[in-house]
Amino acid sequence: MNPRERVYVAIGSNLGDREAMLARAREGLGRIPLTRILAVSSIEETEPVGPEGQGRYLNQMVLLDTTLDPGRFLKALQKLEDENGRTRGERWGPRTLDLDIVRYGTRRLRDPDLKLPHPEMLNRDWWQREMDELDRLAPPADPDDA
Ligand code: ADP
Ligand code: MG
Repeated sequence: MNPRERVYVAIGSNLGDREAMLARAREGLGRIPLTRILAVSSIEETEPVGPEGQGRYLNQMVLLDTTLDPGRFLKALQKLEDENGRTRGERWGPRTLDLDIVRYGTRRLRDPDLKLPHPEMLNRDWWQREMDELDRLAPPADPDDA
């Protein structure tokens, strides 16, 4: 079995009922097999990155731990996006729900389908604030407890 690892998942929505979409995403994350929610950040509104003329985003980050491997975990996130009306349009275009893996334990991956840590991790100041908040809510696990 895969070791238990901590995963930071960013939720973003800039179309439709954004609050409701964040709530549905949190519920969906809580139902991923072999996975539990450890902490949930506050919600922050940001200007859209990418093409102009889009609405503002609501963002929230969830800290989970899981024994799923990263590929399966990503598949579970994409299923949640699809179930919540996500259509895959232009890069960085408007979307009902975007789920990004920001960090997955200490893993480093450079697959086109899965880059870890997320390449934008250091560029998005709201992600930094959310990660700090989650670390205050759920102090890092003692590796001896694994
Ligand atoms: P973006 O999040 O950059 O706006 P998308 O949500 O449309 O764009 O994702 C495009 C692709 O990014 C996905 O098909 C996925 O395979 C890939 N991807 C690479 N690294 C990650 C990651 N860390 N988290 C989520 N998706 C990722
Ligand atoms: Mg994405």
